Amino acid sequence: MIYLDNGSTTAPLKKVRKAVSKGLKLYGNPSSLHKIGRNAADALLEARRKIASSLHCLSEEIYFTSGGTESDNWAIDSACKCAKNKRTIITSSIEHPAILKTLKEKEKEGFNVIYLPVNEKGIVKLSDFKAALSKDVFFVTIMMANNEIGTFQPINEIGKICRRKKILFHTDAVQAVGHIPLNLVDLSVDMLSASAHKFHGPKGVGFLFCRKGTPLYPYILGGGQERSQRSGTENLPAIMGMAAALQEFKKDAPRLYKNQTQLRDYMINELSLIPGSMICGDQILRLPNNILVCFKGVEASSLQLLLDQAGICVSMGSACSSQSVRPSHVLEALNVPEDYIRGAIRITTSRFTTMRQAKKAVAKIKRWVEFLRNFPKTLDKLHIK
Ligand code: PLP
Repeated sequence: MIYLDNGSTTAPLKKVRKAVSKGLKLYGNPSSLHKIGRNAADALLEARRKIASSLHCLSEEIYFTSGGTESDNWAIDSACKCAKNKRTIITSSIEHPAILKTLKEKEKEGFNVIYLPVNEKGIVKLSDFKAALSKDVFFVTIMMANNEIGTFQPINEIGKICRRKKILFHTDAVQAVGHIPLNLVDLSVDMLSASAHKFHGPKGVGFLFCRKGTPLYPYILGGGQERSQRSGTENLPAIMGMAAALQEFKKDAPRLYKNQTQLRDYMINELSLIPGSMICGDQILRLPNNILVCFKGVEASSLQLLLDQAGICVSMGSACSSQSVRPSHVLEALNVPEDYIRGAIRITTSRFTTMRQAKKAVAKIKRWVEFLRNFPKTLDKLHIK
C-alpha cells in the first residue's frame, strides 16, 4: 500500500507505540495520592514538559483535550464567555468545520461573525482583515494551514495586529503542528489547537495552548483536572504518545521538512503536466506534505476508487467533507470552477513516503485520469449506453 492520506491521519511512530504501552502500564490515576497514582502524575508532568519544550512554551500553557475538534470548540466557547459586552468575531471562510459549525452556533446566540474571503491561492488578505476590524471585535480565529489546500495564512501579522488592539487571537494549527517547526515565543497567538493523530501520535488526544495571562473559561466541569479548566481523568497513554511524537519531530524537523518539500514539489510538477489539471493553493506558502490537484472532467470518487484498487490511498478534498455530497467550501471560496472541483483529490505525504512511491503514484494517477476521461468513448465502442 502507498498511503498518501496523511492529512486525514498518520501512522503512529514506533516510539509513540512504545510510549503508549508504557502509559498503559502506568495505570494509576494521576490525581491519586499514593505511589501508583504519583507515578502516573510524574509521567503526565514529564509528557507536558516535553510538549511544552518542543513548542517553546510553558508547561502550564498546555491543556490536554480529546483532539483538534474539542480544542477549537473550547477556544471559541471560552472567548465568547469572556467577551464582556463585545459581539463581533472574525474568521476566514475556509476554516475547518470544527470552527465554522461552532461559530454558526454562536451566531444563534447573538454573536456577529465576519467570514473573510480568501484570494485565488486561498490566503486571507491583510487589507480585508484590517477593513473588518472594529471596536466591537473581541476574537479572531484563523487557521495556520488549511486542511484541504495546505496554504498558510499570515498568522503572525494578524496576531500582531490583534495584540496591538487587545483582541484575543486563536489559530487552528491542527495541520501544522508536528509538520513545521513552531516557536510559540515568537508567534503572536494567544490560543492554538493541535491534534496528535495528525503528527504520528495517537488518535483522540490533542491540546489547546493558552498563553499565560489569556482569559480561559473552563470547558468540561468535574473533578478539576487540567487546573480545573478541563475535567476528566487524563488519557495518560495517549498523552505520552503525543509527547513522544512531537519529540521525534523536533529531533529531525529540518530534514523531514526538506524531504517532504522535495516530494511535494516533484509531484506538483509532474501532476501539473497532465492536461486539464489544476493545483490549488499557493505553490510555496503551503504545508510541505500537501498537494491538492483537480482534474477537469474526472469524478474524484472514481479516481479515488481506482487508485485504492491499485494500492494507493488518497482522499477527495478533505477526508472530513468527502462523506458529504456538498462540494468543498474551500475550493468554492477559491472560485475553482465546478467541473474542476468534482475532480479534486488531496495527496498528503508523510515521513514514511519515498520518492519511489511518489513516482509510482504519479504514474498511476496519470494512467487513471486518462482512462476515466476516455471511459465514455470506451463505452461507445462497446455499444454500452
Ligand atoms: N482542524 C483541522 C484544520 C483539521 O484538519 C482537523 C481534522 O482533520 C480538525 C481540526 C479536527 O481534528 P480532530 O480530528 O483531532 O478532532
